[in-house]
Amino acid sequence: MTEGLAAGTTVDAVVVGSGPNGLVAANLLADAGWDVLVLESQPTYGGAVASDREVHPDFVHDTFSSFHPLAVISPVIRSLDLERHGLRWAHAPSVVATPFRDGRWAELHRDRDRTAAGLDAFASGDGAAWLRLCAVWDRVGEEVVDALMSPFPPLRQGARAVRRLPGPGALRLLRAALGSGRGLADREFDGLAARVLVAGNAAHGDAAYGAPGSGVFGLLLAMTAQQHGWPAPVGGAGSLATALADRFTAAGGRIVCDARVERVLVDQGRATGVRVRGGGEVRVRRAVLADVPAPTLYGGLVPWSDLPGRTRRLMRLFHWDPGTLKVDWALSGPVPWAGRPSAAPGTVHVGETPEEIEQSQKELAAGAVPARPFLLMGQMATTDPTRAPAGQESAWAYTHVPQRVRSDAGDGGVRGTWDRDDAERMADRVQARVEAYAPGFSDRVLARRVLGPRELQERDENLENGALNGGTGALRQQLVLRPVPGTGGARTPVAGLYLASSSAHPGGGVHGACGANAAHAALSSRRWPPRSRG
Ligand SMILES: Cc1cc2nc3c(=O)[nH]c(=O)nc-3n(C[C@H](O)[C@H](O)[C@H](O)COP(=O)(O)OP(=O)(O)OC[C@H]3O[C@@H](n4cnc5c(N)ncnc54)[C@H](O)[C@@H]3O)c2cc1C
Repeated sequence: MTEGLAAGTTVDAVVVGSGPNGLVAANLLADAGWDVLVLESQPTYGGAVASDREVHPDFVHDTFSSFHPLAVISPVIRSLDLERHGLRWAHAPSVVATPFRDGRWAELHRDRDRTAAGLDAFASGDGAAWLRLCAVWDRVGEEVVDALMSPFPPLRQGARAVRRLPGPGALRLLRAALGSGRGLADREFDGLAARVLVAGNAAHGDAAYGAPGSGVFGLLLAMTAQQHGWPAPVGGAGSLATALADRFTAAGGRIVCDARVERVLVDQGRATGVRVRGGGEVRVRRAVLADVPAPTLYGGLVPWSDLPGRTRRLMRLFHWDPGTLKVDWALSGPVPWAGRPSAAPGTVHVGETPEEIEQSQKELAAGAVPARPFLLMGQMATTDPTRAPAGQESAWAYTHVPQRVRSDAGDGGVRGTWDRDDAERMADRVQARVEAYAPGFSDRVLARRVLGPRELQERDENLENGALNGGTGALRQQLVLRPVPGTGGARTPVAGLYLASSSAHPGGGVHGACGANAAHAALSSRRWPPRSRG
């Protein structure tokens, strides 16, 4: 039995996995008075919300996620009042920007007028178009976010959003959002800066720029940046996980790490507990909530023999999102950008035209390692000075790679085996992309860490080959179709078992909504007999 777990433990609910979705679910169940145990396979809790000093002892690096605007706008995370448990947010001078070879920048500031003025410098009229989008979002944005983060179909929240739609521009916005990012950008804007901001934000959300539905990602992230900024937790992403864990344990919950769940125990179609690596079992009176990907749950933790045949057939439709390779740098000074932005951005999108970004997405879709990969880059000491010694920078960049590599669209040097050598070669390509806009960057590198698809998965097994969304964000696997048609949402074919991870609607990102939906489903279940204490 794992240390910290007494033989014969029985609780109201076990949460398998302590990612943000698992911890949000655990908090809601504990608030309802349930006796809750979180079991985590890694030595520390938090899932893909963690930070460390591995790259260089004087620098804090976020191991996985860094910017948490979705946590700030998430109704459930807001309701947890994590600031009372030590969480503080830091903002960079500007939110997100893209450098161009000629030294200019496309910049998104928290001050919308300043964003608009910058866009106008590229194409007169784009500033006004941006402000029109912002005005419509002011009216419907909150309801759209509530609707997206609620179980689907979000009848109450959807109705509220629809009531606000008839105002000027809103129907046009809805049409644009449901279409492709490219359609939205081309219809609303003339200049490169505004179009590349939309393209970068659509790509940031793992949706093909030309595909239906990518407009909504581009819009959601861009408008969230405009209204709330993209803040990062002071001290490192781990502070967010600590606040979630502290709140939960203060409410009486328990987290046991180094406890990998190997099996969900099912008796007569109902989840009755879990078996932990090493052989120990924990019984549940009410529910098991699984913060693991759908393919790990169905046919993995729950064997096919405990599931209807239909689930197995439907799971064949499941598609992973692409893999990821992340590079972290400890830098002796700030990133030496060739042209200076008007204010230093926390996030940098490296991909200077919508066409270039789309090309790297097309290569990915064809199973090729992109020749000129689109990069998401973070300047963390610029955002939160506690991350590095004064005047120095804690930076990262990540890019997507195919789940299964068929070819290299670049110089042929990356094979997609993702052993150390291969991952370092890809990291060199990533670094060369940054160097092209920031000559002298490599001279400032004090230390570098490369987390290829294998290393990401070793540190968090939900990240299959570095997939960070728990399954593709393409429209065919969204809403009621997530994770697969017929098992949409948190409920599963096993009574008392709920899917709480980002494989469920609304998908990837640190918003806790998947965990909250699973907790609400468990709390409202009538299939379980009323609880008798004692
Ligand atoms: C490199 C990277 C950068 C990202 N950047 C951002 C960002 O800036 N902003 C943002 O909003 N999102 C970002 N994301 C996405 C975000 O981190 C994830 O979508 C989110 O963490 C998903 O939460 P989760 O709780 O579903 O799963 P996870 O956070 O993956 O947590 C799952 C947990 O379950 C545990 N587990 C799995 N199987 C078992 C088992 N059998 N037994 C016990 N425990 C188990 C795992 O060890 C892990 O701790 C990023 C992700 C990555 C990888």
